[in-house]
Amino acid sequence: MSKVDYVRRPMPKQEPCERVRNFDEVALGYTAELAREEASRCLACKKPGCVQGCPVGIDIPGFIGLVAGGDFAAGIRTIKETNALPAVCGRVCPQEEQCEKECVLGKKGDPVAIGRLERFLADWEAEQGALQAPPLPAANGKRIAVIGSGPAGLTVAADLAVLGYEVTIFEALHEAGGVLTYGIPEFRMPKAIVSREVEYVQSLGVELRLDYVVGKTRTVDRLLESYDAAFVGAGAGLPWFLDIPGENLNGVYSANEYLTRCNLMRGYRFPAWDTPLKRASRVAVVGGGNVAMDSARTALRLGADEVHIVYRRSRDELPARAEEVENTEEEGVIFDFLTLPVRLIGDGRGWLAEIECRRMELGEPDSSGRRRPLEVPGSESRLRMDASICAIGNSPNPLIPMTTPGLDVGKRGNVIVDEATGLTSRERVWAGGDVVTGSATVISAMGAARRAGRSIHEKLMGGDEREAP
Ligand code: FAD
Repeated sequence: MSKVDYVRRPMPKQEPCERVRNFDEVALGYTAELAREEASRCLACKKPGCVQGCPVGIDIPGFIGLVAGGDFAAGIRTIKETNALPAVCGRVCPQEEQCEKECVLGKKGDPVAIGRLERFLADWEAEQGALQAPPLPAANGKRIAVIGSGPAGLTVAADLAVLGYEVTIFEALHEAGGVLTYGIPEFRMPKAIVSREVEYVQSLGVELRLDYVVGKTRTVDRLLESYDAAFVGAGAGLPWFLDIPGENLNGVYSANEYLTRCNLMRGYRFPAWDTPLKRASRVAVVGGGNVAMDSARTALRLGADEVHIVYRRSRDELPARAEEVENTEEEGVIFDFLTLPVRLIGDGRGWLAEIECRRMELGEPDSSGRRRPLEVPGSESRLRMDASICAIGNSPNPLIPMTTPGLDVGKRGNVIVDEATGLTSRERVWAGGDVVTGSATVISAMGAARRAGRSIHEKLMGGDEREAP
């Protein structure tokens, strides 16, 4: 038996000093040689934990074995049996919490770099030219309205299109892709890749209607007059604020606004593009998730001299992907852990000048399982800042629930569904992704959309669940 290889092949990346001056993708991807070496580390376990750890159940040992053997075309086909967005998932899934967490190699060394291999195959396929759409069955005569073109909407649309449904996606914005387009920056999720994935879904016959705000342009009920079922994948685009004094000062943003201006509206190319974005010198980003890391790294690339992440827990509790925390640290962002902003202070002319913060300490674990942060009285200090970006979470926009009578929502405005099927309280209306869970992950949105797609198929066609992807 050959020796077990416990060391993963490193990801080639742009150097930190170079990449903070551009918006190009930071991680450059494995070469074919590195991919084959990395794939050869897989032990092809009889009971692969990695598959259990994947919310969409990709045949991981299957595709990795094909990479090791150099059959990249078969490898990408294997992934696409269960995942329509591999170039996206390979880049942004929190693999360390999912498939890679279950890899047996991780017990003594590095787990196999499953995400990097998935990305390698997706990029390899793109380099070969046109994406291969699977053969499509004859139309089954049923029409589905999908609301939102994020990972959830794209997944359910693709799954139902390959079963013969006529699917239309209604998207409020002028570009498709959801958070992948308006939220995650170019340096982590190149827009050309998102466009490619959207084109793939369109190649399955899915119609895409942009600038179409369901709840305003037409209500869900109006759509149901001409569609057999609706899937709501409208995401969670309503930002939370800290609810502290000074949040209406100039220079104070929600991460949502900041990143949308930069990504969707190409603010980083101002004045070549129309949308301006303040070039701040000292920026504080409040929060510790992927959104916070993306905002901080965007601020650096827009020319800030000093960027801080202000987070009320410690490094161990940071919810962002491990790789992005590492990238953020490498780029020189300063982390102020156990720190809570309590007041934003202006310069007397309406602009942010300082942030008053209080020290925190960690108590017992709370309902999230993480240790609860407790304020230390009398520990106030001030940070001099000219911009602050709030990245502490989002709720679903209330528009669809407000205009869809009988659609039940929870305390934070999230649509309530049956977890196994995604069916809402309204007949013929399913939902999945962030609109149900609140801000979560790409892969969890895709997993929910897949379950809803199966349920829609079963309801409309009496279809055997096992026939659906
Ligand atoms: P979305 O992606 O939000 O898509 C919803 C779509 O619906 C949007 O295009 C919206 O315009 C549209 N819509 C809303 N209302 C209407 C309406 N009334 N009519 C028509 N269309 C409507 N997850 C990860 O797994 N890894 C990461 O690294 C990661 N990084 C992130 C970084 C940022 C900055 C952000 C904001 C999120 C990140 N996430 C990450 C979370 C992830 O992107 C989301 O969980 C995922 O996109 C949810 O998918 P969705 O399809 O449910 O919603």
